[in-house]
Amino acid sequence: MADKKNKKNNRNNNKNYDEDYNPRLRKQRKKVCPLCGDPNFVLDYKNFDIMKKFVNDKGKILPRRTTGACAKHQRDITLAIKRARQIAVLPYTQD
Ligand SMILES: [Zn+2]
Repeated sequence: MADKKNKKNNRNNNKNYDEDYNPRLRKQRKKVCPLCGDPNFVLDYKNFDIMKKFVNDKGKILPRRTTGACAKHQRDITLAIKRARQIAVLPYTQD
């Protein structure tokens, strides 16, 4: 609780803080599912260059809010990553 209060004070004391800035009104581009957007895109679990786009530097599967994939394709991506891990294309973990 004390931490939260400090954070708020820091923000208010910061002279660089723009008072008009509202993160809710931030202009953001609508993300298009990489698989829906490109009909030629093939999710090949044997291809490291394709699969590495959907994992972070620790080897974890990226969430939908980061990949921008639709629910259906995020499931496909997850499955492909798990297959890629089994055949050692992708690592399970990375320090
Ligand atoms: Zn999709």
